[in-house]
Amino acid sequence: MTGFRLFASIAAAVLLPACASAQKQDVASSVQLTPDVVVAGSPELIRVSAPGATSVDGEWLTRRIAFFREDDEWVALAGVDVDAPIGPSTLHITAHLSGRAQDFSRTVEIHAAHYRTESLGVQPKFVEPGPEALKQIHEQSEVKAKVFASSAPEPLWHGDFHAPVAAAATDSFGVRRMFNGKLASIHKGADFRAHTGTPVHAANSGVVVLARPLYFEGNCVIIDHGMGLFTESMHFSRIDVKEGQHVNTGDVLGLSGATGRVTGPHLHWAVRWQGASLDPIKLLHLNLSGSTPPSKRTATHPHHHRPR
Ligand SMILES: [Zn+2]
Repeated sequence: MTGFRLFASIAAAVLLPACASAQKQDVASSVQLTPDVVVAGSPELIRVSAPGATSVDGEWLTRRIAFFREDDEWVALAGVDVDAPIGPSTLHITAHLSGRAQDFSRTVEIHAAHYRTESLGVQPKFVEPGPEALKQIHEQSEVKAKVFASSAPEPLWHGDFHAPVAAAATDSFGVRRMFNGKLASIHKGADFRAHTGTPVHAANSGVVVLARPLYFEGNCVIIDHGMGLFTESMHFSRIDVKEGQHVNTGDVLGLSGATGRVTGPHLHWAVRWQGASLDPIKLLHLNLSGSTPPSKRTATHPHHHRPR
């Protein structure tokens, strides 16, 4: 060991405790969650300030988080399932710098959202489906599982998410529902009061990965927005898109209706991120205007800076 390296080692050893506490403070201010109070069912925009990092990845409640670069920050759209355990959780984040890794992990408290319970009456076939229907339901759930299992590795969404219909949203996400006093389920989407025939729009850009009639969902359209994020629209009277089709924000997907398990015409709109059901209304409130796919940024906005 040379004299210099020996000195450097001693200096490092002496300075380490001070560095460690400074590092901890850095970690707290380097990771930003929006919304900052995390409730079960909430989508979360995660920003990590890690200058010099070549990649950033993470894991939260067994779901892998992929970050993309935005100027000097790393960004991910993630979330906490509506049914997530209440209490402290560990948000693992690792920044990879040349030759080393920096740990940005932190404890995130998940708060209860206090969702309501309500009772509904629907046709008996939706509460106690017959053997033929059960077979159909099983096959369709496998189709959906396959659809949700693969997503584009890069964000296909671009900027903010927009409401899918020009109709009032109801406070219905997360509601514990009793159907005909028997079957209990959690309502994993937001219902919009849309009359039959109301145009339903793509909330953001992406690829149509499912566009077909299903037992409970009725005529259903699912869009992959990339990096594990999907939006799902149900009960259409008419579908106007095809599986595999790329859509842009605002494109018409079809017309709303009352197909599938419904009590009347409405649009059921759901958001899924890696199997977690997130509150669609909260996603609409997230400001993502600066968060765009890296490919589009370099292609069209080489000198773009996010408004702060
Ligand atoms: Zn619904």
